[in-house]
Amino acid sequence: MNFNYPSNVEDLINRVEAFFASEMLPRHREWVQTVCRDGRPPSFIKDIQKKAKSQGLWNLALPELAAEEPGTRLTNLEFAPIAEILGRLPWGSMAFNCHAPEVPNMAMLQSIATREQKIKWLNPLLNAETRSSFAMTEPAVASSDATNIATKMDFEGNAIVINGHKWFATGGAHPDCSFFIVMGVSDPDAGRTGQHSMVIVPTDTPGVTIVRDLRFMGWTDHVAPIAEIKFENVKVPAENLLGIRGEGFKGAQVRLGPARIHHCMRCIGLAEMVLAQMVARAQERTTFGKTIVEYDTVQKWIAEARIDIEQTRLFIQRGAWMLDNSPDKNTWRTVSQIKVTTPRMLQKITDRAIQLFGAMGGTDDTLIHHAWTYARWLRIGDGPDEVHLRQIFKTEPVPDWSIAECPYIAPLETYGVG
Ligand SMILES: Cc1cc2nc3c(=O)[nH]c(=O)nc-3n(C[C@H](O)[C@H](O)[C@H](O)COP(=O)(O)OP(=O)(O)OC[C@H]3O[C@@H](n4cnc5c(N)ncnc54)[C@H](O)[C@@H]3O)c2cc1C
Repeated sequence: MNFNYPSNVEDLINRVEAFFASEMLPRHREWVQTVCRDGRPPSFIKDIQKKAKSQGLWNLALPELAAEEPGTRLTNLEFAPIAEILGRLPWGSMAFNCHAPEVPNMAMLQSIATREQKIKWLNPLLNAETRSSFAMTEPAVASSDATNIATKMDFEGNAIVINGHKWFATGGAHPDCSFFIVMGVSDPDAGRTGQHSMVIVPTDTPGVTIVRDLRFMGWTDHVAPIAEIKFENVKVPAENLLGIRGEGFKGAQVRLGPARIHHCMRCIGLAEMVLAQMVARAQERTTFGKTIVEYDTVQKWIAEARIDIEQTRLFIQRGAWMLDNSPDKNTWRTVSQIKVTTPRMLQKITDRAIQLFGAMGGTDDTLIHHAWTYARWLRIGDGPDEVHLRQIFKTEPVPDWSIAECPYIAPLETYGVG
């Protein structure tokens, strides 16, 4: 794989870094203060989005962009350093319309929506005029096995009637969220993986109730607030079926590969941001006659964080490159490995950073706990670690020799016991 970016991409990365430094980072303290004081984000994000869009810094994370669609198309590998820059701030990706769940939802709509659906649902998302949410997980069933999803979808003439209970629909509690992409059972008599379909449900459809905003580890997602939702006799036109009936899982696959790796790219940005804070803090505090940075333990934490970040970044770049170049089953295996290892890396670094900061490390002032929560969430969301590990195990090749015939082991006769 080639690590050099073409000059136009280098130029774009430099422009993103400059935009981040001049337009975004100076506003971050205001963002933190507003969410802590008022429980909602400040309104400046719309102005920043307008500026970013006018400079072509828009929709950079989409794998495809038709000529008439606004934005700049990048490969996953080209997007990696940009996602990292934006990932330093909880709201960073939103500035360029590169945040979840919008990106995976847009990618899925681009891939499987009809022309009419694209006009109605995709175009407003591409222009950040509305918000969306993907509602699959249900409180009543173990949703890491998606075939357990039980929400009922009855096709009645030209309508689909939906009954079910969802939760952890990211973005679903945002006041601008205008539609859900709901996964449910449309064909209960089909085989295990052919029963489910996806349907677009406008949030204002009668029978849709937002039960509550959910917090994860005590943290409200101020970018894409999470919803618990009830669907009670919700009736939408049959034309709201997204993709092919009974092929809901196949359609949803489109959102998963790049979405998972984008989260991991953001983790690198968070890890860099946290490490910089660790280094600064360790220089400034003194205990028992020494600055904290003089202690071996702290030096080891900082050095190990640097190693962990560098190797994870390389792994992500490799996975991004594989996704860009005819992905095959080995690519999905690599994405699973990255999805397991990256949040673990971030969780380890953030845990040490909290320790190094002492009590301040757990306050809202540093937001290190937000980075920790992001890591903790990612170990469950988009497939828990254990599900990915199982997949990785299942695809580990089994040698075609037994231990007795293993060419790497000396025969037992060598020791006179054969
Ligand atoms: C912050 C956040 C945001 C989310 N956003 C969304 C969203 O936008 N849309 C959406 O639909 N969902 C979303 N989710 C839900 C997420 O995808 C599910 O929580 C996840 O799929 C796990 O499902 P579950 O919670 O039902 O856990 P369960 O399926 O009950 O699993 C619990 C645990 O069982 C263990 N386990 C499961 N399978 C195996 C296995 N094969 N081998 C070994 N152990 C296993 C794992 O430890 C797993 O964590 C979000 C979750 C969080 C925390």
